[in-house]
Amino acid sequence: MRSATDIVALISEHAALKKQGTRWVGLCPFHQEKTPSFSVNAEMGVFHCFGCQQSGDAITFVREIEHVDFVEAVRRLAERSGVTITEDPSATADRQRRAPLHEAMEKAVEFYHERLLSAPDAGPARDYLRSRGYDGDIVRMFRLGWAPDDWDALAKYLKVSTKVLTDSGLGFVNRRDRAQDAFRARVIFPIFDTSGKPIALGGRILPVPVGDGGPGVGATGPGAGPGPGVGPKYKNSQDGPIYSKRRTLYGLNWAKKDVIENGEVIVCEGYTDVIAFFVAGMPRAVATCGTALGEEHFRLLRNFARRVVLAYDADAAGQEGAGRVYEWERHHEVDVAVAALPPGADPADLARDRPDVLRAAIADAQPFLAFRVDRVLASADLRSAEGRAKAAEAAIAVVAEHPNELVRDQYLMLVADRCRLEPDALRALAGRVARQDRAAPGESNGSRPGRGPVSEAGSANAGSRSAPTGPSRRGGDISRPGLEALRLAVHRPERVGDRLEAILFPDELQRAAFEALTGADDLHEAVEAAEDHDPRVASLLRRLAVEEPATDADDVVVTLVRNASRRALAVAEAQARLSPNTVGEIAPVIARVRHDLDELDDSERCLAAADRLLAWLVGRDDTNE
Ligand SMILES: [Zn+2]
Repeated sequence: MRSATDIVALISEHAALKKQGTRWVGLCPFHQEKTPSFSVNAEMGVFHCFGCQQSGDAITFVREIEHVDFVEAVRRLAERSGVTITEDPSATADRQRRAPLHEAMEKAVEFYHERLLSAPDAGPARDYLRSRGYDGDIVRMFRLGWAPDDWDALAKYLKVSTKVLTDSGLGFVNRRDRAQDAFRARVIFPIFDTSGKPIALGGRILPVPVGDGGPGVGATGPGAGPGPGVGPKYKNSQDGPIYSKRRTLYGLNWAKKDVIENGEVIVCEGYTDVIAFFVAGMPRAVATCGTALGEEHFRLLRNFARRVVLAYDADAAGQEGAGRVYEWERHHEVDVAVAALPPGADPADLARDRPDVLRAAIADAQPFLAFRVDRVLASADLRSAEGRAKAAEAAIAVVAEHPNELVRDQYLMLVADRCRLEPDALRALAGRVARQDRAAPGESNGSRPGRGPVSEAGSANAGSRSAPTGPSRRGGDISRPGLEALRLAVHRPERVGDRLEAILFPDELQRAAFEALTGADDLHEAVEAAEDHDPRVASLLRRLAVEEPATDADDVVVTLVRNASRRALAVAEAQARLSPNTVGEIAPVIARVRHDLDELDDSERCLAAADRLLAWLVGRDDTNE
């Protein structure tokens, strides 16, 4: 599929590419940018973005841009280029097992949807949705439905095996051994995967009409007619072969386009909140499905946006565990902000009555730490000296949780200012808080349990309080000739030939990349092999493929040999000092190496000297092993 696909044509469907030398460059389709940092190497069929570090080949591109799995990406590429693929039956067994479940789910969604649109018994549901401001377009877009007040209306309609009914979460076998529907007398919010396939259902009971008094719990038996249901307000499908709560975000299938365009996703608390944001003109909201926001949701979100705005009611947002939030930020390279909605506010009401308030809350979303510090200070009495000291202490405890020292210090100055204290006095206090914290790792100040598991990474976070450094920062000057040599090895292997050795790469990642290249027939094979045991190596190789070497191969080899020889020489000299009885053996070698190092500066003799030094380095390396 890779060789059958014209990667430039493929990517051009999503981004405008311009030819520049041997590469194609353009604005990255994966992140927001104004100057192009996205490059494609047509010949090698790979792309790399210097902005967001996305890289890959045609298959990766389709996976990331369409948000589909590997198999689906290959299938789509095959369709595009008219290639027929035959599938290994064992590989498709899993999909075959799930196919009837997807089919049943699709039919169920359509069945419930049709009921809502036209069945007489859905009248109260339609009235309820209208009262919430949902017009026909909204109902159709979100494929809302109505599950009639009946035991087995869906089961009778679907006529599927009880296994399919149960596995899909649409029904169960009751005590009388009969198939029964999972949802009854509820407004249905179908839940879709990112590609738009329905995978589960959420159901909401109708509220008791105001003034009606309500029939009370249990009064909705046969004959009572459709009306307020019984049980919890919301009910969701259980996890099963086609659905996992932890990996699903309601609304992402509709939101992803706007999320990518804005580089921002709004996470709210329920299905109706998501719809409210769409109604208010912010079609980039998602919600968890009856579970707390967690690690796997972030893994999903980070493919779409770098900024995650929590649009919770202020109290709920304040309860999100700080340790978890910073860990998500660090681990997934996202920024988490909080759009504090007025306490007790319902986004649906806001969207209908005051959409400007809702839009302003999102536009003014604060970084998570700023939001928490503000809450502490807002609840404190800043009029008295004692009150300000107490507030400062509480705020510093919150600030101390942030993993980045520079960020902590900026907030510390802000707290000092608001509490009219000297920053240095607060720094001393912060130092004490940090020490206490280290003594009791895992305890996040201010985070209360109750919103799901407290912290998958709380204690891990406490130990690493330095600013995260990206791999690109490592190495500094040392890494540059190594990268250039790798570029040559990728683009002009004939120029560097066998003049490079692993020993010349002091950077571990570069050495791994070099070894992957020499161990494979071509770049693709190298990338593929690397993908399995170190994705960082695969990513580096793809990046190199869209970069062009700017230096002469001789210069690069000489520089690498010089650097490696100097390092090895320092080791040899230390050995000679430490064990004087070997001096007789080592001294002549040291003298020769020094001589060759001098020769490296002579343009006539440098290549021969480099060959000798390289031979020495490789021989030395072999004996050490
Ligand atoms: Zn990018």
